[in-house]
Amino acid sequence: MKYNPSRRAFLKDTGTVGIATGIGLSLLPTVTNAASKLPLTGYLQQKLPYDYKALEPFIDALTMEIHYSKHAAAYAKNLSDACTAEKIDTSKISLEDLLQNISNYSPKMRNNGGGHYNHELFWQCMKGGIATMPNGELAHAITKSFGSFEAFKTQFTEAGKNRFGSGWAWLVQTSDQKLVISSTPNQDNPLMNIAEVKGKPLLGLDIWEHAYYLKYQNKRADYIANWWNIVNWNFVEERFGK
Ligand code: MN
Repeated sequence: MKYNPSRRAFLKDTGTVGIATGIGLSLLPTVTNAASKLPLTGYLQQKLPYDYKALEPFIDALTMEIHYSKHAAAYAKNLSDACTAEKIDTSKISLEDLLQNISNYSPKMRNNGGGHYNHELFWQCMKGGIATMPNGELAHAITKSFGSFEAFKTQFTEAGKNRFGSGWAWLVQTSDQKLVISSTPNQDNPLMNIAEVKGKPLLGLDIWEHAYYLKYQNKRADYIANWWNIVNWNFVEERFGK
């Protein structure tokens, strides 16, 4: 996509994603998709919004340190390398746009673009302190979509437990404003045009062994059960929008 400063500014102001790229049509976005209200995620690793021990006892400090400073840092670095190799101008193409067209890029871009995005989201999906519950419109939408909050938790937990190998579990807002649960392999995510279930990821759970093995070893189900205590529902609510 050619860079057009006025189009970019327009998209930023309206949060509308257009497919019209032809001359003269560039200011007339015709498609509003589920990702349109995404707060944009950059290409660089951001500072962790809390310290390594903030999520204890549910996720231990050493796991957080290795996960953030080694695994996630490597995705960010490898993404940067892939962008250089594939001539992506990261000042002009958002990471979300890139992921939505990921089938045009290499497996390295897919693995590390997803890896970086997913972890940046994951850190913010968690917080220490007292466990909370969703409320307001999000709580209403969850009840409407899944029957109850408990039923939602059960279904999300199953998606995480049943993912074979490494991957993620997601709460996704689809383009027709429905809430659905999905799971992706490796570092794929629902933004990607190759995803089985596409939409805006509201909440993501990392179920790679590196996310829990030190404390939980093979007990992925225990990790997931404990993880509910540290979900940052305020953050999820902020992402949830019409
Ligand atoms: Mn991870």
